[in-house]
Amino acid sequence: MNTVIDTIVIGGGQSGLAALHSLRERGRTAVLLEAGEQLAGSWPHYYDSLTLFSPARYSCLPGLAFGGDPEHYPHRDEVVAYLTRYARELTRDGAQIRTGARVVGVVAAAGGGFTVRLADGQRMSARSVIAATGSFARPWLPPLTGADTFTGQIRHAAGYRSPEPYAGRRVVVVGAGNSAVQIAVELAAHARVTLASRAPVRFVPQRPLGRDLHFWFRLTGFDRLPLRRTGDPVPAPVLDPGRYRRALAAGLPDRRPMFTRLTADQVEWADGTRERVDVVLLATGYRPNLDYLAGLGALDADGRPRHDRGLSTSHPGLGYLGLEWQRTPSSNTLRGVGADARHLVGRLTARLGTGRVPART
Ligand code: FAD
Repeated sequence: MNTVIDTIVIGGGQSGLAALHSLRERGRTAVLLEAGEQLAGSWPHYYDSLTLFSPARYSCLPGLAFGGDPEHYPHRDEVVAYLTRYARELTRDGAQIRTGARVVGVVAAAGGGFTVRLADGQRMSARSVIAATGSFARPWLPPLTGADTFTGQIRHAAGYRSPEPYAGRRVVVVGAGNSAVQIAVELAAHARVTLASRAPVRFVPQRPLGRDLHFWFRLTGFDRLPLRRTGDPVPAPVLDPGRYRRALAAGLPDRRPMFTRLTADQVEWADGTRERVDVVLLATGYRPNLDYLAGLGALDADGRPRHDRGLSTSHPGLGYLGLEWQRTPSSNTLRGVGADARHLVGRLTARLGTGRVPART
């Protein structure tokens, strides 16, 4: 069966759902394909203690308020519930969403547009494709000298859920961003933990002058600044309600410059001392998860998309949502992705026309 549609959105997290909302606002026909069974993106897989770094007021997608006290910092499970509700509202409104639909390849179609291949062998054709598959499925593991000889465990923070499995162990958390600091501080109550990073940890107060930082971002327009970054992402400063800076100052965890190498069961620190370690936990970020576009030629040699503010520079009709620094500092956040979706869909529409193509099966 080959289905022809105007736009296929790949991925049913916040980015894919925001894309679908914008496409419907423009009157475009679209189908969203989600590999999993749930419509909440990667949020159900984040660690158990996670709360949003922005209050509910600033953490919603277009068209649906988060609910509850607008000043509270929602827990991970509230985000899952919110996105599930958002998807349900879209479906109720007539949007087409398919779960259990993993995309394994996208190729250019002979008459223009794209053919999307699903894991079950089905093919669908579309004039445009929006890739919104996040990065959580592609954790970045930096090369570590001696890693091949290390007999301890090297894990990525993507697999971290709670501190209990690490109780009593010697752990080095690698990284200087929000996840690294939050996980290291949480672990330090259960294990002996060092936070190691190449760059120093930078903090920014969560509530300067008594208001949440995102209030000031909104007031100053910082979130809408057309700032973009290329290359490897630099860890954002750690948003600190006060307790993270205090924990590091108290040595829980202790903080050191990055180790120079691993031996069979030790890390070697920059001063040459060595120490036995059970686990190296890498909170070293992620890369865009776009393998299914490799055959299309839309990615560079590192697997990164070639794009201008989300619009592919190699394939008209191909767009991206949810990339870090895609268009503004808030592109890869709940508060920023809605504006990016409107921007992208507007540009795709200008390029391809209104796209009111009736779905053919
Ligand atoms: P994802 O949530 O990863 O969703 C991608 C979806 O695509 C998934 O449902 C996946 O199943 C699907 N998919 C993948 N491959 C395929 C395929 N081949 N075919 C079909 N479907 C596919 N942002 C904030 O605004 N506030 C925060 O407090 C915050 N905290 C964060 C904490 C952590 C630990 C992390 C990792 C990120 C955090 N972020 C936060 C950043 C960002 O908002 C989230 O990463 C968010 O989940 C990104 O949404 P997304 O839709 O782009 O990608």
